[in-house]
Amino acid sequence: MAFIHNGSMIPLPGYPLSESRILNPRHVSPLIDGFGRLHNNLRISVTDRCNIRCFYCMPATDVVFMNRSLLLTFEEIERFVRIVAPLGVNKLRLTGGEPLVRHELPVLVRMLAAVPGIEDIGITTNGILLADQAQALWDAGLRRINVSLDALNAEKFEEITRRPGYEKVLEGIKAAQAVGFDPVKVNAVSVRGMTESEIVPFGHFARETGVEIRFIEYMPLDADNAWERDKVLFASEIIETLSRELMPLVAVGERNPHAPATDFVFADGVGRIGFIPSVSQPFCAQCNRFRITADGKIRNCLFSLEETDIRGLLRGGAPDSEIVAAVRASVSAKWAGHHINHPDFVQPDRPMYSIGG
Ligand code: SAM
Ligand code: SF4
Repeated sequence: MAFIHNGSMIPLPGYPLSESRILNPRHVSPLIDGFGRLHNNLRISVTDRCNIRCFYCMPATDVVFMNRSLLLTFEEIERFVRIVAPLGVNKLRLTGGEPLVRHELPVLVRMLAAVPGIEDIGITTNGILLADQAQALWDAGLRRINVSLDALNAEKFEEITRRPGYEKVLEGIKAAQAVGFDPVKVNAVSVRGMTESEIVPFGHFARETGVEIRFIEYMPLDADNAWERDKVLFASEIIETLSRELMPLVAVGERNPHAPATDFVFADGVGRIGFIPSVSQPFCAQCNRFRITADGKIRNCLFSLEETDIRGLLRGGAPDSEIVAAVRASVSAKWAGHHINHPDFVQPDRPMYSIGG
């Protein structure tokens, strides 16, 4: 990749010159980490609260949520995005906790869609409140939606989420499709000993509904610290099952090298399946993401053990330049990759719901 800046091409380390991008003339210089990875993709957690309790993310009971006064306000989130957009950040994803439990989320979407340089806003949601909000989110400028759903029957759904809501999620998916989201993607966490039964039903679901299924390998980010490598149902096994029991899968050639999913389509061209093999085939070398938690801490990786406080800067009257410096320092300090597969792996103190997945 290279940037064309005021007419001159600036090659970026580690990116082929054939991939080029126009850098907005207002951009100071892009966010590049110590390994030459360009960071243009910001995930924004808007809350740590959630209306269900997936076992691989939250504790079943007694969750201690952040005090609301600690959450970034919409105005603070918007200011942060206005500060990082000129650094080349053009892609946002809202997440949580469950983002749709944050009051008036479409208002935030509208504010962010109006920030110069922001080209793409997505959301990852459990879908329970989606049927009611899909239209307002679309009208506000949201165009990408991922709905998390790990099972295609109510009993298994409740075993995983420890709450009812299966029918609501299906209604949410249908509503999102009716409003115009295309494709709606479904994220399904793959857990050995638990979700094997869902593989083939999800294959049929993809073929019948046009929804794109993305199987995500279970990662060590659960609040209960119960993750074990043996509980990860690997992407390769799912590909094998679908190919054997439904129809062979063919890899889709053209895909965004920075997107974590590896995409496939069934051999007859009907039904798209993606994989996020974070454990078996980490995509860290192409990572272009960083995150801001609901309480305003930047994390340069899901698995990072350090955070940079932005809320204090935002509330303490820091000038934009100080916030830019903090973001650059965080991105620069990013590791080459996560250590899940190393004996020295340390699970972060924050579970997934508190980071923002
Ligand atoms: N509540 C929303 C939802 O579930 O879509 C957004 C937040 S959730 C933390 C974001 C994504 O992370 C979901 O697709 C969820 O399934 C996934 N996730 C949570 N914990 C995970 C884990 N331990 N391993 C893999 N994926 C996980
Ligand atoms: Fe809630 Fe999403 Fe975590 Fe499930 S994965 S408990 S829906 S935040």
